[in-house]
Amino acid sequence: MPTDADVVVIGAGIVGLATARALRRARPDLTITVLDKETEPGRHQSGRNSGVLHSGIYYRPGSRKARLCASGRAELSVYCEQVGIPIEHCGKVIVATRRHDLEPLRALHERGERNGLRIVRLDRRGLSEHEPHAEALEAIFVPAAGVVDFRTVTHALAQDLEASGVELRLGCAVESLDERASHVVLHTSDGELRGRQVANCAGLYSDVLARRAGLEPAVRIVPFRGEYVELIPERAHLVRHLIYPVPDLRFPFLGVHLTRGIDGRVHGGPNAVLALAREGYRWRDRSIGHLSQLASDPAVWRLAIRHWRTGLHEIARSASRRLLVRDLRRLVPDIRSQDLTPAPSGVRAQAVDDHGRLVDDFAIEVTPRSVHVLNAPSPGATASLAIGAWLASVVLHEHRGPEATGISPASS
Ligand SMILES: Cc1cc2nc3c(=O)[nH]c(=O)nc-3n(C[C@H](O)[C@H](O)[C@H](O)COP(=O)(O)OP(=O)(O)OC[C@H]3O[C@@H](n4cnc5c(N)ncnc54)[C@H](O)[C@@H]3O)c2cc1C
Repeated sequence: MPTDADVVVIGAGIVGLATARALRRARPDLTITVLDKETEPGRHQSGRNSGVLHSGIYYRPGSRKARLCASGRAELSVYCEQVGIPIEHCGKVIVATRRHDLEPLRALHERGERNGLRIVRLDRRGLSEHEPHAEALEAIFVPAAGVVDFRTVTHALAQDLEASGVELRLGCAVESLDERASHVVLHTSDGELRGRQVANCAGLYSDVLARRAGLEPAVRIVPFRGEYVELIPERAHLVRHLIYPVPDLRFPFLGVHLTRGIDGRVHGGPNAVLALAREGYRWRDRSIGHLSQLASDPAVWRLAIRHWRTGLHEIARSASRRLLVRDLRRLVPDIRSQDLTPAPSGVRAQAVDDHGRLVDDFAIEVTPRSVHVLNAPSPGATASLAIGAWLASVVLHEHRGPEATGISPASS
């Protein structure tokens, strides 16, 4: 059966594009097509995030997140330098502002060192040298963190891929997949397409496509919106680089923080409220289908029971500027409500398991002819090139040896 491409990648977000790049580098002979339902790459998570090049301090040592964040960060830094994308290795401060943050801050410091990072403990004077307007009982400085515009990275990856002969088909939505013995048939808004292998990197819709491919993944994607505010230009001097609170490591979210992006603009956020649609960027973006799916899923109820207190706090903070300002003032007491303007939000594709637990690590599911990315939240953008290399090796079945790749060029 002739195929249209050796590999079809679904999703022109940073993970899908990084996967296509790794495939192209490993196997220049293969035909590769990347599909996206949008008319430009990086419209969703990859173009709507905090723009922080994460150091990897937070992640469980040995986890995929820890490993791929470290190698992905290094690889991304080299890539940005090669193609001339501005990247700033400014480091970040993490501040303990309450007594009960002190022990977790020390634990985080230790975890960071176990992850191979250099971490500097700061006294008040040290903190004021890095962030003159921040306040803390104790603080640490993590030099390895930085900032970059991931939307720019996504566009650069797309351009490089096209220049290397990868087909980018935008405005083409995949509706379902049908995996056969020798290939996968993709039913799309543009008609049928056949690929020998498929990488599903559809972000907020990856579980939907996995189910439509006949899989029964043990997770579902629950969309969590992250809302931001921006500091008005006259007050942007209050934040030099990156100021983060001590996170609750039981959650994959880091708490509202202050970040100066590569463009010099300072944002506060993101919070984490349950979105009412998969691409629910505002409260008024609602999908009845999505809501009834959530309401009928016992895992979502278990999630709600586990985290109702945090969930209510997030909703209250989303509705109340006063609560948001209170949390930002913990980091920088000089911030006032009138210093803030609303900024565009992002929606995280966060996997939740059958027990209602937020899945912490990156996760994929593999069939003979497809790989489905089922959890690639933060630091997914930082780690993208390493995630792409991992997915490419799975697509090429490298772990089974070169003679068993099961993939030869479509044209042969
Ligand atoms: C608020 C927020 C803040 C974050 N901050 C950071 C940070 O500071 N640093 C960091 O490293 N990471 C951060 N992240 C995480 C990071 O953005 C993601 O890990 C990363 O962008 C995931 O990329 P992706 O390609 O998997 O998903 P996406 O960028 O969402 O791409 C998925 C693509 O699939 C397409 N698609 C979906 N369904 C279909 C279909 N049926 N057919 C065809 N195409 C389809 C979509 O249009 C989309 O373009 C943040 C995320 C959010 C939301």
